[in-house]
Amino acid sequence: MDWSLLTLSATAQIEVPASSNDPLSDASFFLFANSDGVGGASRTQLNLVVDEVWVNGQKAGWKLDGPVLKVKFASPQTQNVRVEVRYHGLVPRSSPDAGAMGGLMGTDISSLLGGGDKSATAKKEAKNTDYGLYTATPQIVSLGSFWSPTLAVRQNGKWMDAAPDGLGDVAFAQKSDYSVHLNAPRDMTVVAPGTLARTENGVTIRADDVRDCAILASREFSSKSKTIQIAGHPVVVSAYATKAHEGRLDECVSIAANALQIYSKRFGAYPFGEFKVVEAPMKSGAGGMEYSRMVGIASSLYEPMGKQLGGMISSLNLPGADQLLQSLGDETMTGGAQTPAKTNGAPAANEATDALNGLLGQQKATLDSLFEVSIAHEVAHQWWAIGVGSDSQRDPWVDESLTNWSAMLYFEDRYGREKADAMREMHLKTSYSMGAALGGGDRPANLPSAAYTNNLQYGAVVYGKAALFYDHLRELVGDEAFFGALRDYYARYNDALADGKTLRGLVEARSPGKKPQIEALYKRWIEEAHGSEDIGAGAAGDLTQMIGGLFGGGAAGAGDE
Ligand SMILES: [Zn+2]
Repeated sequence: MDWSLLTLSATAQIEVPASSNDPLSDASFFLFANSDGVGGASRTQLNLVVDEVWVNGQKAGWKLDGPVLKVKFASPQTQNVRVEVRYHGLVPRSSPDAGAMGGLMGTDISSLLGGGDKSATAKKEAKNTDYGLYTATPQIVSLGSFWSPTLAVRQNGKWMDAAPDGLGDVAFAQKSDYSVHLNAPRDMTVVAPGTLARTENGVTIRADDVRDCAILASREFSSKSKTIQIAGHPVVVSAYATKAHEGRLDECVSIAANALQIYSKRFGAYPFGEFKVVEAPMKSGAGGMEYSRMVGIASSLYEPMGKQLGGMISSLNLPGADQLLQSLGDETMTGGAQTPAKTNGAPAANEATDALNGLLGQQKATLDSLFEVSIAHEVAHQWWAIGVGSDSQRDPWVDESLTNWSAMLYFEDRYGREKADAMREMHLKTSYSMGAALGGGDRPANLPSAAYTNNLQYGAVVYGKAALFYDHLRELVGDEAFFGALRDYYARYNDALADGKTLRGLVEARSPGKKPQIEALYKRWIEEAHGSEDIGAGAAGDLTQMIGGLFGGGAAGAGDE
């Protein structure tokens, strides 16, 4: 890595499993840094290029098509194949994203509301959002898990090697063991999964049983850590953040430690000796990103909420925004309360400001909890996505819905039912109804991510509605059968891959008498679209009305019927 120029050159040696049951005549890899939209990459402008590929010590034929690298073998292989990929490239620079924030009111809304041709922009922006996973800001270099070739998953004698084209994250991999040598100056803090050892000119990273090996580095990272006990073994929980955000390190460690213990007790023990929470230069509304044995949390979430809302208001480009920005300095603003923002503008500006003020009050309460929700969510991915693997492009609800439900369980077990209910109201129900109203209505939850119209609809259905499905399933079969099935799911599919029906089957096995009701519930909440009846319009009704006031009506498509 050239840390000044932000270029890298690397050699990856990958052992590709093969056997006589499935002789391999080729292998497919992803260079996710080349996915459409990642740091501006396109099919003709790449972030990583391949120089040479060797197979079992011989130069081999290969083809790089955007993010997909296909390597030809000279003859069918029945034993493990050693593939060596020599490649080089760059890490795109970006400035910190002032308007970024998790949750609903991020840049998605401004792009939906502000853009001229709504259907065209929504369609275009629906694909491959750049979440800033592979990027460098002046403070943090995030290579994420995109810096090395990832072996595609092989299913039924075929490589699952279609280029990712959907929303959400792209990861889909079997578990591997990584050993990485990375040059880095002494004052550069490198964060990666597993154990890190300093060498003369860099670090050695050793991480086994991981689905990816993420790397983030900064000269400005401070860190704190604490050792906790999980099922009789010690786990070191560490948090890393830039100096400006180091005041939140203790909170990070505490949230992650509690989440690891809660999920371990409920789902099965976290198996590793360490876990890391690291500040990441994420953008486009993403609050965090799960990686094996660590999570990235968006820099913007470490900031005070007034600043968050300020960024959002600027990005909305509304009349009266200046006054609102001033009033946001007033940290006394609480849920639902009107701030006395003085507007001197035209009547339209007054109305817009008042309407937005009410909404901002609600949003502030939601935003205040977003830091904790995001960490709780990303930690739960250690069980769902990284433990139990699934296809995050073709079957995104399998991990995301259960993970978002699990984040609510964290609140229930740490603070009690009442708090959990309040969080569920904000982060699942309101989130669903607003997202569905603004994003084009409800859809089935089990669609590929590319099938959703935009991020708002995807978020509403997959993170909101389908997470609520698990509450109903729990209520239907009772805690014993429900949590028993979750423990079966983790125990049996940790190290393997599950699909949308795997967990349902395990719940049915634990509660055979309720099979018809379970299937009916699944059909209604996952395969069909009854969100507006089952969850209700809730805040979406007010919101639709408010948006009508702001934009003279009809600017936002209101819900599904
Ligand atoms: Zn997630």
